[in-house]
Amino acid sequence: MKIPFNKPFLSGKELDYIKQSVESGKISGDGIFTKKCTQLLEEKYKFKKCLLTTSCTDALEMCALLADIQPGDEVIIPSYTFVSTANAFALRGAKIVFADSHIKQPNIDENQIEALITEKTKAIVVVHYAGVACNMDKIKEISKKHNLFLIEDAAQAIDSFYLSQGETLALGSIGDFAAFSFHETKNIISGEGGMITINDEKYILRAEIIREKGTNRSAFFRGEIDKYGWVDVGSSYLPSDINAAFLFAQIEKIDEIQNKRKQIWNLYYDILSSISSKVILPFIPNYATNNAHMFYLVVNSLTERDELISKLKSKDILSVFHYQSLHKSKFFENKHDGRILANSDRFTDCLLRLPLYFELSLKQVEMIANEIIDFYNAR
Ligand SMILES: *Cc1c(COP(=O)(O)O)cnc(C)c1O
Repeated sequence: MKIPFNKPFLSGKELDYIKQSVESGKISGDGIFTKKCTQLLEEKYKFKKCLLTTSCTDALEMCALLADIQPGDEVIIPSYTFVSTANAFALRGAKIVFADSHIKQPNIDENQIEALITEKTKAIVVVHYAGVACNMDKIKEISKKHNLFLIEDAAQAIDSFYLSQGETLALGSIGDFAAFSFHETKNIISGEGGMITINDEKYILRAEIIREKGTNRSAFFRGEIDKYGWVDVGSSYLPSDINAAFLFAQIEKIDEIQNKRKQIWNLYYDILSSISSKVILPFIPNYATNNAHMFYLVVNSLTERDELISKLKSKDILSVFHYQSLHKSKFFENKHDGRILANSDRFTDCLLRLPLYFELSLKQVEMIANEIIDFYNAR
Protein backbone atom coordinates (compact mmCIF):
# COMPACT_ATOMS: atom_id res chain seq x y z
CA MET A 1 0.00 0.00 0.00
CA LYS A 2 1.29 3.43 -0.96
CA ILE A 3 2.02 5.79 1.94
CA PRO A 4 1.48 9.39 0.82
CA PHE A 5 3.34 12.26 2.45
CA ASN A 6 0.12 13.87 3.65
CA LYS A 7 -3.55 12.98 3.82
CA PRO A 8 -6.11 15.60 4.91
CA PHE A 9 -7.89 14.76 8.18
CA LEU A 10 -11.70 14.74 8.14
CA SER A 11 -13.67 14.79 11.38
CA GLY A 12 -16.88 13.66 9.68
CA LYS A 13 -18.84 16.77 10.69
CA GLU A 14 -17.62 18.99 7.84
CA LEU A 15 -20.52 18.42 5.42
CA ASP A 16 -23.06 18.67 8.21
CA TYR A 17 -21.75 22.10 9.25
CA ILE A 18 -21.45 23.28 5.65
CA LYS A 19 -25.11 22.35 5.19
CA GLN A 20 -26.05 24.32 8.31
CA SER A 21 -24.09 27.29 7.03
CA VAL A 22 -25.79 27.15 3.63
CA GLU A 23 -29.21 26.82 5.24
CA SER A 24 -28.54 29.79 7.53
CA GLY A 25 -29.00 31.99 4.47
CA LYS A 26 -25.74 33.87 5.04
CA ILE A 27 -22.66 32.32 3.50
CA SER A 28 -20.40 35.36 3.08
CA GLY A 29 -17.74 36.20 5.67
CA ASP A 30 -18.23 36.63 9.43
CA GLY A 31 -21.28 34.37 9.65
CA ILE A 32 -22.18 31.96 12.45
CA PHE A 33 -19.34 29.50 11.90
CA THR A 34 -16.68 32.20 11.59
CA LYS A 35 -17.75 33.41 15.04
CA LYS A 36 -17.79 29.89 16.49
CA CYS A 37 -14.23 29.32 15.25
CA THR A 38 -12.74 32.54 16.56
CA GLN A 39 -14.55 32.33 19.92
CA LEU A 40 -13.21 28.86 20.54
CA LEU A 41 -9.67 29.77 19.52
CA GLU A 42 -9.59 33.03 21.50
CA GLU A 43 -10.72 31.18 24.64
CA LYS A 44 -8.48 28.17 24.25
CA TYR A 45 -5.27 30.05 23.38
CA LYS A 46 -5.86 33.47 25.01
CA PHE A 47 -5.42 35.43 21.78
CA LYS A 48 -6.65 38.98 22.26
CA LYS A 49 -8.38 38.96 18.88
CA CYS A 50 -8.64 36.40 16.06
CA LEU A 51 -9.83 37.15 12.54
CA LEU A 52 -10.18 34.35 10.01
CA THR A 53 -8.53 35.06 6.66
CA THR A 54 -8.47 33.38 3.27
CA SER A 55 -4.91 32.12 3.87
CA CYS A 56 -1.85 32.58 6.05
CA THR A 57 -0.31 34.47 3.14
CA ASP A 58 -3.18 36.97 3.36
CA ALA A 59 -2.80 37.17 7.15
CA LEU A 60 0.89 38.02 6.62
CA GLU A 61 -0.09 40.71 4.09
CA MET A 62 -2.41 42.14 6.72
CA CYS A 63 0.49 42.15 9.21
CA ALA A 64 2.60 44.15 6.76
CA LEU A 65 -0.24 46.67 6.30
CA LEU A 66 -0.85 46.92 10.05
CA ALA A 67 2.85 47.55 10.67
CA ASP A 68 2.55 50.28 8.01
CA ILE A 69 5.59 49.00 6.13
CA GLN A 70 6.76 51.59 3.58
CA PRO A 71 9.17 51.28 0.62
CA GLY A 72 12.72 51.13 1.95
CA ASP A 73 11.77 49.93 5.44
CA GLU A 74 13.87 46.95 6.48
CA VAL A 75 12.33 43.74 7.78
CA ILE A 76 14.38 40.91 9.31
CA ILE A 77 13.15 37.46 8.27
CA PRO A 78 14.72 33.97 8.37
CA SER A 79 15.88 32.77 4.96
CA TYR A 80 14.75 29.21 5.62
CA THR A 81 10.98 29.67 5.30
CA PHE A 82 8.07 29.63 2.88
CA VAL A 83 8.01 32.36 0.22
CA SER A 84 4.95 34.09 1.73
CA THR A 85 6.76 35.07 4.94
CA ALA A 86 8.96 37.42 2.91
CA ASN A 87 6.70 38.15 -0.06
CA ALA A 88 4.04 39.81 2.12
CA PHE A 89 6.61 42.46 3.08
CA ALA A 90 8.26 42.66 -0.36
CA LEU A 91 4.80 43.61 -1.71
CA ARG A 92 4.91 46.78 0.43
CA GLY A 93 8.36 47.66 -0.94
CA ALA A 94 10.29 46.54 2.14
CA LYS A 95 13.95 45.63 1.94
CA ILE A 96 14.14 42.07 3.21
CA VAL A 97 17.15 41.34 5.41
CA PHE A 98 17.54 37.59 5.70
CA ALA A 99 18.81 35.97 8.90
CA ASP A 100 20.32 32.53 9.38
CA SER A 101 18.88 29.57 11.26
CA HIS A 102 20.29 27.96 14.39
CA ILE A 103 22.88 25.29 13.85
CA LYS A 104 20.69 22.70 15.61
CA GLN A 105 17.26 23.55 14.17
CA PRO A 106 15.75 25.75 11.44
CA ASN A 107 14.34 28.57 13.63
CA ILE A 108 15.92 32.03 13.35
CA ASP A 109 19.12 32.33 15.41
CA GLU A 110 18.16 35.00 17.94
CA ASN A 111 21.82 35.77 18.62
CA GLN A 112 22.31 37.03 15.07
CA ILE A 113 19.33 39.38 14.92
CA GLU A 114 20.69 42.45 16.65
CA ALA A 115 23.65 42.83 14.27
CA LEU A 116 21.17 43.14 11.37
CA ILE A 117 19.23 46.06 12.87
CA THR A 118 19.75 49.51 11.32
CA GLU A 119 17.84 52.76 11.73
CA LYS A 120 15.60 51.66 8.85
CA THR A 121 14.55 48.39 10.50
CA LYS A 122 10.83 48.32 11.15
CA ALA A 123 9.97 44.70 12.05
CA ILE A 124 11.26 41.27 12.97
CA VAL A 125 9.32 38.34 11.56
CA VAL A 126 9.91 34.97 13.22
CA VAL A 127 8.74 31.59 11.93
CA HIS A 128 7.99 28.88 14.47
CA TYR A 129 9.32 26.12 12.24
CA ALA A 130 7.58 22.75 12.66
CA GLY A 131 5.47 24.40 15.37
CA VAL A 132 8.50 24.72 17.65
CA ALA A 133 8.79 28.10 19.37
CA CYS A 134 11.57 30.56 18.62
CA ASN A 135 13.35 32.03 21.65
CA MET A 136 10.64 34.62 22.24
CA ASP A 137 11.90 36.19 25.49
CA LYS A 138 15.17 37.12 23.82
CA ILE A 139 13.55 38.23 20.56
CA LYS A 140 10.87 40.26 22.33
CA GLU A 141 13.56 41.99 24.36
CA ILE A 142 15.37 42.94 21.11
CA SER A 143 12.18 44.17 19.43
CA LYS A 144 11.26 46.28 22.49
CA LYS A 145 14.74 47.73 22.87
CA HIS A 146 14.75 48.88 19.22
CA ASN A 147 11.04 49.71 19.05
CA LEU A 148 10.29 47.20 16.28
CA PHE A 149 7.17 45.28 15.40
CA LEU A 150 7.37 41.60 16.30
CA ILE A 151 5.38 39.41 13.93
CA GLU A 152 4.97 35.63 14.26
CA ASP A 153 4.56 33.44 11.22
CA ALA A 154 2.71 30.76 13.17
CA ALA A 155 1.50 28.94 10.03
CA GLN A 156 2.64 25.61 11.48
CA ALA A 157 2.19 26.48 15.14
CA ILE A 158 -1.43 25.90 16.15
CA ASP A 159 -1.71 24.37 19.65
CA SER A 160 1.96 24.91 20.44
CA PHE A 161 3.39 26.92 23.31
CA TYR A 162 6.31 28.95 24.55
CA LEU A 163 7.33 28.38 28.17
CA SER A 164 8.32 31.68 29.69
CA GLN A 165 9.34 31.85 33.37
CA GLY A 166 6.54 29.66 34.66
CA GLU A 167 4.02 30.91 32.09
CA THR A 168 2.71 28.89 29.16
CA LEU A 169 1.98 31.19 26.22
CA ALA A 170 0.32 29.98 23.01
CA LEU A 171 2.40 30.67 19.92
CA GLY A 172 0.65 33.46 18.07
CA SER A 173 -0.18 35.28 21.33
CA ILE A 174 3.27 36.79 21.91
CA GLY A 175 4.11 39.14 19.01
CA ASP A 176 2.13 42.21 18.01
CA PHE A 177 0.47 40.10 15.30
CA ALA A 178 0.64 36.50 14.15
CA ALA A 179 -0.45 34.56 11.07
CA PHE A 180 -1.77 30.97 11.06
CA SER A 181 -2.49 28.63 8.15
CA PHE A 182 -5.30 26.12 7.69
CA HIS A 183 -3.96 24.86 4.36
CA GLU A 184 -4.60 21.15 3.92
CA THR A 185 -1.02 20.28 4.85
CA LYS A 186 -1.31 21.80 8.36
CA ASN A 187 -2.62 20.20 11.59
CA ILE A 188 -6.15 21.63 11.31
CA ILE A 189 -7.42 22.56 7.90
CA SER A 190 -10.07 24.12 5.71
CA GLY A 191 -8.52 23.43 2.30
CA GLU A 192 -7.17 26.95 1.98
CA GLY A 193 -7.53 29.22 4.98
CA GLY A 194 -5.79 31.25 7.64
CA MET A 195 -6.09 33.55 10.59
CA ILE A 196 -4.49 36.68 11.95
CA THR A 197 -4.23 37.23 15.69
CA ILE A 198 -3.86 40.73 17.07
CA ASN A 199 -2.38 40.91 20.54
CA ASP A 200 -2.17 44.68 20.91
CA GLU A 201 -5.68 46.06 21.32
CA LYS A 202 -4.94 49.32 19.58
CA TYR A 203 -4.64 47.55 16.19
CA ILE A 204 -7.89 45.56 16.30
CA LEU A 205 -10.12 48.16 14.65
CA ARG A 206 -7.66 48.83 11.83
CA ALA A 207 -7.24 45.08 11.27
CA GLU A 208 -11.01 44.75 10.79
CA ILE A 209 -10.96 47.62 8.30
CA ILE A 210 -8.01 46.26 6.29
CA ARG A 211 -9.72 42.86 6.11
CA GLU A 212 -12.99 44.43 4.88
CA LYS A 213 -11.64 46.20 1.75
CA GLY A 214 -10.63 49.31 3.66
CA THR A 215 -14.16 49.91 4.93
CA ASN A 216 -15.58 50.12 8.45
CA ARG A 217 -18.25 47.55 7.61
CA SER A 218 -17.45 45.41 10.70
CA ALA A 219 -18.27 48.31 13.03
CA PHE A 220 -21.42 48.96 10.97
CA PHE A 221 -22.60 45.36 11.44
CA ARG A 222 -22.04 45.71 15.19
CA GLY A 223 -24.33 48.78 15.09
CA GLU A 224 -21.56 51.14 16.21
CA ILE A 225 -21.98 53.47 13.21
CA ASP A 226 -25.00 54.15 10.97
CA LYS A 227 -23.29 53.82 7.60
CA TYR A 228 -20.02 52.46 6.34
CA GLY A 229 -17.54 53.66 3.75
CA TRP A 230 -13.96 53.79 2.57
CA VAL A 231 -11.73 54.77 5.50
CA ASP A 232 -8.32 53.16 4.81
CA VAL A 233 -6.47 50.85 2.42
CA GLY A 234 -7.37 47.20 2.56
CA SER A 235 -8.39 44.17 0.59
CA SER A 236 -10.81 41.24 0.71
CA TYR A 237 -9.21 38.97 3.25
CA LEU A 238 -12.25 37.33 4.87
CA PRO A 239 -13.25 33.76 4.04
CA SER A 240 -16.75 32.58 3.28
CA ASP A 241 -18.68 31.07 6.19
CA ILE A 242 -18.72 27.81 4.21
CA ASN A 243 -14.94 27.57 4.74
CA ALA A 244 -15.39 28.45 8.40
CA ALA A 245 -17.99 25.66 8.75
CA PHE A 246 -15.42 23.17 7.48
CA LEU A 247 -12.82 24.62 9.82
CA PHE A 248 -15.10 24.44 12.86
CA ALA A 249 -15.53 20.70 12.37
CA GLN A 250 -11.75 20.45 12.68
CA ILE A 251 -11.20 22.86 15.56
CA GLU A 252 -13.71 20.89 17.65
CA LYS A 253 -11.50 17.82 17.24
CA ILE A 254 -8.17 19.51 17.82
CA ASP A 255 -7.26 17.56 20.97
CA GLU A 256 -7.92 14.24 19.26
CA ILE A 257 -5.91 15.29 16.20
CA GLN A 258 -3.01 16.46 18.33
CA ASN A 259 -2.93 13.30 20.46
CA LYS A 260 -2.66 11.10 17.40
CA ARG A 261 -0.04 13.28 15.72
CA LYS A 262 2.06 13.29 18.90
CA GLN A 263 1.86 9.49 19.15
CA ILE A 264 3.18 9.24 15.60
CA TRP A 265 5.90 11.80 16.23
CA ASN A 266 7.06 10.14 19.46
CA LEU A 267 7.19 6.71 17.85
CA TYR A 268 9.32 8.04 14.96
CA TYR A 269 11.60 9.68 17.52
CA ASP A 270 11.92 6.58 19.72
CA ILE A 271 12.72 4.20 16.89
CA LEU A 272 15.03 6.55 15.00
CA SER A 273 16.99 7.43 18.15
CA SER A 274 18.96 4.27 17.49
CA ILE A 275 20.61 5.99 14.51
CA SER A 276 21.05 9.39 16.15
CA SER A 277 24.81 9.14 15.64
CA LYS A 278 24.19 9.01 11.86
CA VAL A 279 21.40 11.55 11.28
CA ILE A 280 20.11 14.52 13.24
CA LEU A 281 16.65 14.20 14.81
CA PRO A 282 14.36 17.19 15.53
CA PHE A 283 15.52 19.36 18.41
CA ILE A 284 12.96 20.87 20.83
CA PRO A 285 14.51 23.55 23.08
CA ASN A 286 13.43 23.47 26.75
CA TYR A 287 11.36 26.66 26.29
CA ALA A 288 9.23 25.05 23.54
CA THR A 289 6.49 22.44 23.24
CA ASN A 290 5.98 20.13 20.28
CA ASN A 291 2.69 20.25 18.34
CA ALA A 292 3.78 17.39 16.09
CA HIS A 293 3.27 19.42 12.95
CA MET A 294 6.24 17.78 11.30
CA PHE A 295 8.75 14.99 11.72
CA TYR A 296 11.99 15.65 9.92
CA LEU A 297 15.53 14.31 9.70
CA VAL A 298 18.66 16.27 8.87
CA VAL A 299 20.88 14.00 6.81
CA ASN A 300 24.55 14.51 5.91
CA SER A 301 24.42 15.64 2.29
CA LEU A 302 22.20 16.39 -0.68
CA THR A 303 23.23 13.09 -2.33
CA GLU A 304 22.43 11.14 0.80
CA ARG A 305 18.99 12.78 0.89
CA ASP A 306 18.32 11.90 -2.77
CA GLU A 307 19.32 8.31 -2.09
CA LEU A 308 17.11 8.05 1.00
CA ILE A 309 14.12 9.56 -0.87
CA SER A 310 14.62 7.00 -3.67
CA LYS A 311 14.98 4.11 -1.27
CA LEU A 312 11.74 5.10 0.53
CA LYS A 313 9.99 5.63 -2.80
CA SER A 314 10.96 2.12 -3.88
CA LYS A 315 9.00 0.95 -0.81
CA ASP A 316 6.01 3.17 -1.78
CA ILE A 317 6.75 5.72 0.96
CA LEU A 318 6.68 9.38 -0.06
CA SER A 319 9.04 11.70 1.79
CA VAL A 320 9.61 15.32 0.77
CA PHE A 321 12.00 18.19 1.30
CA HIS A 322 11.13 21.87 1.18
CA TYR A 323 12.31 25.45 1.61
CA GLN A 324 15.15 26.54 -0.54
CA SER A 325 17.00 29.39 1.17
CA LEU A 326 15.13 32.52 0.05
CA HIS A 327 18.31 34.63 -0.11
CA LYS A 328 19.41 32.33 -2.97
CA SER A 329 16.04 32.29 -4.77
CA LYS A 330 15.76 33.44 -8.35
CA PHE A 331 13.79 36.50 -7.24
CA PHE A 332 16.15 37.52 -4.46
CA GLU A 333 19.71 36.40 -5.24
CA ASN A 334 20.71 39.71 -6.84
CA LYS A 335 19.12 41.66 -3.97
CA HIS A 336 20.93 39.78 -1.21
CA ASP A 337 23.88 41.49 0.47
CA GLY A 338 26.20 38.49 0.06
CA ARG A 339 26.26 37.27 3.67
CA ILE A 340 26.64 33.50 3.86
CA LEU A 341 23.74 31.83 5.68
CA ALA A 342 25.31 28.43 6.19
CA ASN A 343 22.68 26.83 8.40
CA SER A 344 19.83 27.86 6.14
CA ASP A 345 21.72 26.35 3.20
CA ARG A 346 22.41 23.13 5.09
CA PHE A 347 18.70 22.66 5.91
CA THR A 348 17.92 23.43 2.26
CA ASP A 349 20.11 20.49 1.18
CA CYS A 350 19.74 18.06 4.06
CA LEU A 351 16.31 18.30 5.70
CA LEU A 352 13.84 15.55 4.88
CA ARG A 353 10.20 15.36 6.02
CA LEU A 354 8.55 12.02 6.74
CA PRO A 355 4.84 11.19 6.31
CA LEU A 356 2.76 12.44 9.27
CA TYR A 357 -1.02 12.51 9.17
CA PHE A 358 -3.89 11.41 11.41
CA GLU A 359 -4.66 8.20 9.53
CA LEU A 360 -1.08 6.99 9.46
CA SER A 361 -1.00 3.86 11.64
CA LEU A 362 1.67 3.20 14.24
CA LYS A 363 2.52 0.02 12.33
CA GLN A 364 3.21 2.10 9.23
CA VAL A 365 5.38 4.48 11.27
CA GLU A 366 7.37 1.52 12.54
CA MET A 367 7.78 0.23 9.01
CA ILE A 368 8.94 3.61 7.67
CA ALA A 369 11.40 4.11 10.54
CA ASN A 370 12.82 0.61 10.05
CA GLU A 371 13.37 1.24 6.35
CA ILE A 372 15.40 4.31 7.31
CA ILE A 373 17.42 2.32 9.84
CA ASP A 374 18.12 -0.33 7.19
CA PHE A 375 19.28 2.42 4.83
CA TYR A 376 21.83 3.66 7.36
CA ASN A 377 22.95 0.20 8.46
CA ALA A 378 23.71 -0.69 4.85
CA ARG A 379 26.05 2.30 4.44
C1 LIG B 1 2.05 27.00 5.03
C2 LIG B 1 2.89 28.16 5.36
C3 LIG B 1 2.58 29.46 4.89
C4 LIG B 1 1.50 29.75 3.90
O1 LIG B 1 0.24 29.38 4.31
P1 LIG B 1 -1.00 29.57 3.30
O2 LIG B 1 -2.18 29.38 4.21
O3 LIG B 1 -0.88 28.48 2.28
O4 LIG B 1 -0.93 30.92 2.72
C5 LIG B 1 3.38 30.51 5.32
N1 LIG B 1 4.42 30.33 6.14
C6 LIG B 1 4.76 29.09 6.59
C7 LIG B 1 5.93 28.95 7.51
C8 LIG B 1 4.02 27.97 6.20
O5 LIG B 1 4.36 26.76 6.63
